[in-house]
Amino acid sequence: MNHPSGLPAAPDMPPCGTCAWARPELGALRCVATGLGEEEGTRLAVDQRGCAYWEPTPTCGPCGACCREAFDSVEVRDTDLRTLLERPERIVTHADGWRDLRRVPSPLGEGTRCASLQGDGAAAPFRCDMYADRPAACSELEEGSWNCLFARRRVGLSPG
Ligand code: SF4
Ligand code: SF4
Repeated sequence: MNHPSGLPAAPDMPPCGTCAWARPELGALRCVATGLGEEEGTRLAVDQRGCAYWEPTPTCGPCGACCREAFDSVEVRDTDLRTLLERPERIVTHADGWRDLRRVPSPLGEGTRCASLQGDGAAAPFRCDMYADRPAACSELEEGSWNCLFARRRVGLSPG
């Protein structure tokens, strides 16, 4: 049986209105799990029963996707340099002028993660050891945003 969104159906799921992939619209919602980006998605009723992709808004501690293997570079802008002044070892300037945060090999054996990321998401929650001074590229990525969910998909934590 298909779900009205076109995504896989599953029995007894919570309503779409409580799903991390739902974006409110006037009297309805858009499911961005079905779209190509933040602005795209199938329109559904708020009380529509959820599909197999339903998930609650994620939290960072057990996830860490955006700081680890989901991406391979986090930009350091000119405006970030003042707060990062005391941590020059965390910044890498590449031959072409691109400036980003230092990365280390992933303990998972594939990809890299930010050198400022601590924890493993299990025994020790993931955390940033310079959270107050992190670059704008980090602070602009909010929990539950499209980029957050996209990062989770890339590391296999969110379906799709
Ligand atoms: S992903 Fe979430 S919002 Fe989209 S159809 Fe499934 S339950 Fe509804
Ligand atoms: S600086 Fe902190 S928030 Fe930014 S990618 Fe690294 S660990 Fe994550």
